[in-house]
Amino acid sequence: MGRLSGKRAIITGAASGIGRASLLLFAREGARVLAVDREVAALDAALALAADAGDEASVADVVGRCVTEWGGVDAVFANAGVSGGRIPLLEQTVEQWQEILRVNLIGPWLMIKHAAPAMIGQGGGSIVCTASVAALRANAGGSPYSASKAGVVSLIQTAANALLGTGVRVNAICPGLIETGMTRPIFDLARARGTESRIGQLNPLQRHGRPDEIAAAALFLASDESSYVNGQAFAVDGGLSSTHPFAGHRR
Ligand code: NAD
Repeated sequence: MGRLSGKRAIITGAASGIGRASLLLFAREGARVLAVDREVAALDAALALAADAGDEASVADVVGRCVTEWGGVDAVFANAGVSGGRIPLLEQTVEQWQEILRVNLIGPWLMIKHAAPAMIGQGGGSIVCTASVAALRANAGGSPYSASKAGVVSLIQTAANALLGTGVRVNAICPGLIETGMTRPIFDLARARGTESRIGQLNPLQRHGRPDEIAAAALFLASDESSYVNGQAFAVDGGLSSTHPFAGHRR
């Protein structure tokens, strides 16, 4: 019996990186997964929809399809996100801020808004959002990216409390540096320079993370194993957010 046997799950950003690893793991653990991305051509999911995770009509449609096809929704992983690159603070535009906030913060809120009512009707469910270590401190992304992810941490706290008594849990994961499509330029540059071994050296595990390590946390939070975990932002970052920067000693 899988850890998500019988569960109906929606995953956004499922075509790449963390979302793709989660799609594969959730399916392996027995869930029926509705996979969502901007393009879904090659997705090996029970159901795949091309949709914009930051657009209300699209999100409402995704949740509606899950309910129509499978009779409800038990777990949502609101994971789609964009980085927006590293544009210097004083050169950023309102349009760049709005787009990053739209996808990274308003998107997860829309998923909560539209999935929670379906979950309430069936007695509960689990909503997991992808935040970031960028939510916690500077230097893990640009200002709008960090602000959007800090907003996600606040969102899961306020949503968990707004949904009191419903059985709907809302949590977030704060990944550290994970090798995915989003971070490929960092890895490509380091490999080209021969400095790959330095990636991830700021955390006590002294390595970068893999998408399947975030998928494992998402699986736990989506499943009933986390039935008493609510309103929490769970850092999965090799210990990065536990430290202050320092010139590391060697053992
Ligand atoms: P990724 O680029 O490999 O995957 C992100 C996916 O989201 C892509 O398939 C993309 O097409 C999709 N997407 C983007 N905007 C969308 C939209 N409007 N509608 C539908 N789909 C959309 O990157 P990833 O690292 O797997 O990112 C997943 C999440 O993890 C993001 O929220 C990201 O901010 C977060 N995150 C990543 C890292 C990291 O180091 N990779 C660290 C912290 C947080």
